[in-house]
Amino acid sequence: MSLYADIVFPTAVRQPFTYELPEVLKENAAPGRRVWVPLQKHKAIGMIVNIHDRTPNFNTRKVEKILDEEPVLSDELLRLTEWMYRFYYCGWGETVQAALPAGLNFYAEKKVRAVMDEIPDYLDEKEQDIVAEVQSEEAYSLKEANKRWGDKVIKRLVGQKALEIWEEPALKMEPNTETLWRWSTEDAPEKARKVIREHKEKDQSYKWIRALELLLELNLPEFQPQLTSHDLLEYYTLNRISEEGLIISKEVEANNLSLKYEYDPSQLKTLNEEQQEAYEAIEEVLSKNQFASFLLFGITGSGKTEVYIHALKKALEQGKGGLVLVPEIGLTPQIVERFYHIFGDDIAVLHSRLTNRERYDAWRALQKGEKSIAIGARSAVFAPVQDLGLIIVDEEHDASYKQVNPAPRYHGRDVAIMRAYMNNAAVVMGSATPSMVSLHGAKKGKSKMLSLTERPFEATLPEVKVLDMKQYRSAMRGPLTVPLFEAVKEAMEQEEQAILLYNRRGFSSYLQCGHCGEIPECPNCSVSLTFHKSKKQLRCHYCGYSERQPRCCRECNHEAVAPRGSGTQKLEEELSELFPDARTLRMDYDTTSGKEAHANILQTFGRKEADILVGTQIVGKGLNFPDVTVVGVIDADTELAFPSFRSGERMYQLLSQVAGRSGRAEKKGRVFFQTWQPDHPAIKTARKHDYKSFARQELAYRKMLEYPPYSRIIRFTFKGKRDTRVRRVAYAFTESLTEVLGNMEAVLGPSPAAIARMQNFYRWESLLKIKPSNGASAIERLIDQTFERYENRKPKGASSVRINVNVDALE
Ligand code: ADP
Ligand code: ZN
Repeated sequence: MSLYADIVFPTAVRQPFTYELPEVLKENAAPGRRVWVPLQKHKAIGMIVNIHDRTPNFNTRKVEKILDEEPVLSDELLRLTEWMYRFYYCGWGETVQAALPAGLNFYAEKKVRAVMDEIPDYLDEKEQDIVAEVQSEEAYSLKEANKRWGDKVIKRLVGQKALEIWEEPALKMEPNTETLWRWSTEDAPEKARKVIREHKEKDQSYKWIRALELLLELNLPEFQPQLTSHDLLEYYTLNRISEEGLIISKEVEANNLSLKYEYDPSQLKTLNEEQQEAYEAIEEVLSKNQFASFLLFGITGSGKTEVYIHALKKALEQGKGGLVLVPEIGLTPQIVERFYHIFGDDIAVLHSRLTNRERYDAWRALQKGEKSIAIGARSAVFAPVQDLGLIIVDEEHDASYKQVNPAPRYHGRDVAIMRAYMNNAAVVMGSATPSMVSLHGAKKGKSKMLSLTERPFEATLPEVKVLDMKQYRSAMRGPLTVPLFEAVKEAMEQEEQAILLYNRRGFSSYLQCGHCGEIPECPNCSVSLTFHKSKKQLRCHYCGYSERQPRCCRECNHEAVAPRGSGTQKLEEELSELFPDARTLRMDYDTTSGKEAHANILQTFGRKEADILVGTQIVGKGLNFPDVTVVGVIDADTELAFPSFRSGERMYQLLSQVAGRSGRAEKKGRVFFQTWQPDHPAIKTARKHDYKSFARQELAYRKMLEYPPYSRIIRFTFKGKRDTRVRRVAYAFTESLTEVLGNMEAVLGPSPAAIARMQNFYRWESLLKIKPSNGASAIERLIDQTFERYENRKPKGASSVRINVNVDALE
């Protein structure tokens, strides 16, 4: 009987390809293993998703090699990727790729090898050397060969049929190894003493002899990793000693996740009454092995993290594993540290800035069950935690959980819910400002609401003052209204700290000609260029394009080109004029691009080496500084400038996060919102920390306009280099969509995207609103049918236009 394997590749092609399994490979083939197969004219790595004996009605090609000895994706994760590719309407291979760490990806490498065993005599001497060199190795990477001898020579040798190029799977990264040593024989220490004596007699004091002395002193009978932590016991000395036959080594998989956190389980707190109640609700479900979802709604500082920790501890006691998702792990080092205190090395920290190697190691440790908890940002939702019992999604409202590009455009929180469901596990979503979607879900009974209303240390939240910019127009100190200025000044006098938040970045949003009004735009994108004063540069924040600050206007040649608007950098400068003695620190996406930059800035501020922290909204996340007594939002209403149904929600979340920053310790904090719209519902409610009123108004508005949670939004983006083609495709596709739906009102567009041109691609969009009850199969059917119809009316040049699907688009 013939067996067939359905195989997926990391492309937008949605259906798996069927291949025949040769007899010899049958035994080793299994879903979740990667294979090496012919694909079109090449070879490629694919993932088996299914094995069956249904003979397809087309000629099948054969699987050439099975690349993994064990499945790299468990059944559980494979099923999750299957649901995802249907729900988010993308390629199955794309979701599989998202679920694998970079080290285990679909990566093939081009190699060169000699065609014949002998070296052809028609080559010149140099060419013969190259072929000989290539021959001496089993596989020579093309990249390396090109680098060493130049692409031209290699190409010529291929043309002369002396060398050939072929592709080979770049197999999974070899695990990191570590060398361990021990005495070679029982009497080795004895011999060692003799060696030392002999050298001492000759008055020689080699380093390796001293190392040998140290070994004797340490007297380690077994293979010991600690050995290499001594300065003397380096590779050279140990190797030299082993040349004497005194010690031997073995290679083991290294366990080298360099964590700087401290294990201190005594930091586990006793829960207060509210926390205990929330915990018990979760505990009950954990012991039943049933799917359940909770929305832990608690103001900032009310102790949600403590509840997560207790619940995780319970899950671990029951022999289960846990998964903790946080918005951007680089921004929340304090949270990670608290988990580490309690769980120590049981946690794999999947930091977004890990190297491939480190990520792979962490992944393996989870897969082998050496660690039972994973903590990380969005993609950690795929961490191969064993016997998953509990998933925590902290700050569930955070937009960074949604992947925008590339596909799969998934929402980490929603995938987490599905994963919990598939595993009969519990999922706890926590937030001080739940998303409207989760709040609505709790109201409809999809998840259980747990509330924390008090702060363990404080009776009151900080007082928030709303400063109406219209009234203070003539009472400004630079960018600050007088009351905010006074408050910062007072804080400085008391040797306290202040945080000032500003929403745009760069020195100034743009340059403008004072004569003709021309604003330099990016040549690739339809946005104005941002002016960076320190580098005397104009830069595009979408595509990275940059140019030198122009001397005069491109349109009229006038020299009156001047910075307009104001950014964090300018704010920082103005502040240093207002508070000449204060040390300011700036944190935005420009200052935090380095690997450790963000943590460094926070640490510097935390050590009180600066007095004022100025930054964009990233300052609002996950901070907790006892000496910060003043927090000011310079332009509280900028969020509203974004055209999005979520702008009110986002603004409330930002303001309330900021308001929660201050006054977390003994010192009482003050918060100021400077705004042009003091009557906006988000500002009025955030000021009173009144999330419930905000949510009531916001939900009423969403319901009226049929926005999520009262609908599901699917955004189609059409992209291409020729505007007319893009437009035609957008119209043809959208018409097909409308026909399939039979309901005009649900489709908005097509229309040019908010940024109509990006990186030289024209962009059009259509928006579809469907009932939120539509799940994976309904979405898949709807879009499949749309594409079928669209096939029949495809305009000319349609193949050069890409159509992206974004299910549950956030904006
Ligand atoms: P959230 O996650 O809701 O912002 P945290 O869990 O960070 O709140 O709690 C805020 C502060 O209160 C932290 O310093 C935490 O250690 C402390 N805390 C929380 N719960 C307790 C408790 N039951 N007993 C003592 N301290 C607590
Ligand atoms: Zn650009």
